[in-house]
Amino acid sequence: MTRTTLTVKQIHELGLWEKVCEYKGWDTWILNEGKIEEDELVEFDSEFKKEIKLTEEQELAELLHSKLCTWNHTDGCAWYYHTNDWTERTHKRYLAKANKLLETEVYIEDIKKVIEIISN
Ligand SMILES: [Zn+2]
Repeated sequence: MTRTTLTVKQIHELGLWEKVCEYKGWDTWILNEGKIEEDELVEFDSEFKKEIKLTEEQELAELLHSKLCTWNHTDGCAWYYHTNDWTERTHKRYLAKANKLLETEVYIEDIKKVIEIISN
């Protein structure tokens, strides 16, 4: 099972705090009340990742990475060291590509089709 670890700060930056609290059964106020620190690591299992709905940009970035990256994804680009961590360098790079593609206003489904065709 793949595990993901994020700091409380990253969870906030990703806008996932409420979802995480709901999943973990935490009170959303624990940070304000000082019961958890910003740099504290929170671990997620693959069950939770399924519950996180990716944004369109992130979904496209995932696809771009899976089709374009020729590195080893753990030691090379480190994608799998930072699963779903969109503040990490490689994720940011692919997110930027995804955003550029979406800025063309071509429908995301068409973009995906093109990526699939040219990468096969
Ligand atoms: Zn990679």
